[in-house]
Formats: sequence, C-alpha cells, structure tokens
Amino acid sequence: MTDSVGKPAHGGGGSCWVCGSAKTVLVRPSTIPEKITADAFAITDANYGVTAAIFRCECCGFLQCPETTDVLALYEDMEDPGYTQTAGPRALQARRLVKLVGAFCPAPARLLDVGAGIGLLLDEAEKRGFSAVGVEPSRWLSARAQQGGHEVHCGVLPHKDIVGPFDAVCLIDVIEHVSDPVGLLRTIRDVMAPDGKLIMVTPDVKSVMARLMGRNWWHFRAAHIGYFDRTTLEKACRAAGLRPIHVSRPCWYFNADYLWDRVMAYLPVRLRLKAPRMLARLTVPLNLYDSILFVVEPVGSGDEKRSTQ
Ligand SMILES: [Zn+2]
Repeated sequence: MTDSVGKPAHGGGGSCWVCGSAKTVLVRPSTIPEKITADAFAITDANYGVTAAIFRCECCGFLQCPETTDVLALYEDMEDPGYTQTAGPRALQARRLVKLVGAFCPAPARLLDVGAGIGLLLDEAEKRGFSAVGVEPSRWLSARAQQGGHEVHCGVLPHKDIVGPFDAVCLIDVIEHVSDPVGLLRTIRDVMAPDGKLIMVTPDVKSVMARLMGRNWWHFRAAHIGYFDRTTLEKACRAAGLRPIHVSRPCWYFNADYLWDRVMAYLPVRLRLKAPRMLARLTVPLNLYDSILFVVEPVGSGDEKRSTQ
C-alpha cells in the first residue's frame, strides 16, 4: 500500500496549479495523523476536515495541497464497497446530469466520462441513446463497470484506447483530486469535438456552506488536493482554452440512512446513534449549494476551423 501523503515533498507550496504564480503561502498545516492509505481516498470516506497542508495562491486565491504526492497510486488501489451500496441514489444524480448533457449535446452523440467509477453515468447515458465510454483509475471500480457491460478503460487521460472526438465529456467530482488541473483540462480539450461540451462539477470552497462549516466542511478531505471557487475554476478553464457557457449548482441524491451516518460522523463516538431502519428506504434530494457545475466549450475552435477552410 502506498504511504506518501502528508509528508513534505519540498517544504513549500510550489507554484500555483491554476495561474502559475510562485507566491503560495501555507494557510493550514496538515491534519493527517501519520499514515494514509487508499481507504482515505474512498468516495465515501467520512474523515471530514482531514487534509494535507493547504497552500493559498496570493495571486488567484486557489487552494492546493502540493505535499500530497502519488495520488494516482492511491486511486489505483482504492476499493469502496460503500460506494456500490449507495448506487441507487447516485444513479438518480447521474440521470439528472445526463439530462443536462442532453440539453447541450442531444443524443445520439459520443460521450466520455472521466472518472467513471462503476459506470453509473454511462448507464444513464446509454439509456438515453449516447454512445458512452469511460476511463477510471481504480482497478476495483473499473472492473465493476466492465462487469456491468460498460466500456470503461482502467487508467487516466491520455489513454491509448480513448480516442476523440467526443461531443460531450463529463468530469464529475474529479478535478479536485488532481495536481495538474489545467493539464487535465487541456488533455480533455484535445479529445473534444470542436463544438463539444465539457460538463464539470467540483466543490465550491467559497460557498456559504463552506464558509459556515469552516475547517469541518465535508469537502475538506485527504483525497481533495485542489479547492476551487467559481473564479479559479473559470481561470483554469481559460488557461486550457475552454470557456464557460453555463454555471449552476448541482443537486445530489442520498439514502436517508447514509446522510444520517454522515451527520453522526460529526459527533463524538459516544453520542452517535444508529440510523433508524426505515431511513434505508428513503431517498432524498439535497442541494447544499456548495458545488459548482460548469458547462464549457473550446474557445475559438469554430473560428480556427472557418479560417483554415
Ligand atoms: Zn494562482
């Protein structure tokens, strides 16, 4: 098991992953106990408030955890049975996202899901007539997606078996996990059709919820190494040659007993109560307005195409 998070890689914040500025300052030391394993990278990890050292860019305000190294190795090892158990509500969420994708890129169209997990979004996309392909670094999750009959390639972009152009690319709750967000967006732009759309979702560190909860905000977790707000997310997109054409707040669905356990995680162990059994049957929509949804498209590709004709 890899053990490489929380140890200083170079003792400083390095240059900003969004704007490239060298002016990064430590705003929060690491709260990771000692060792970290792939378990902390599980999608359903509940150790809220536990992060590696966070540095803030003095130029653009982006927050990054540059001391977290070898993230990919942790993802490759990640197994998350809790995630498959919550597949029902997550499928509802995927349905909602695919409906939004369809508003910008009507099916039939080629769709790529980056960080495809067990293939929930691909499943919904295929039902709506998209030709859908995924890429997923976790061997465990990608194997489950393949067992479900989906074309999911184990690995990351660029990937030899992921060949564009794609009309729609989904990047849902992924960009906060990577140490080169602009590089990832450029790689995605390279496989997008000239008029393709990228649908992305990430936590908003400047949201009211994030401010209210401070260091205990549920998106402060070891697996999140980049913290965006609307401004820094747009900056990263622009640096990769993409421009936003739609901004909104996504809604998630959860089993009520799952939410119960998440809330209990904030209490001391002796005060935690087991969820009433009836909650397992309840699915609730939840919009805390603390994530951002962007739809972006390549800048100027239409113009370039026209000028070369
Ligand atoms: Zn910056």
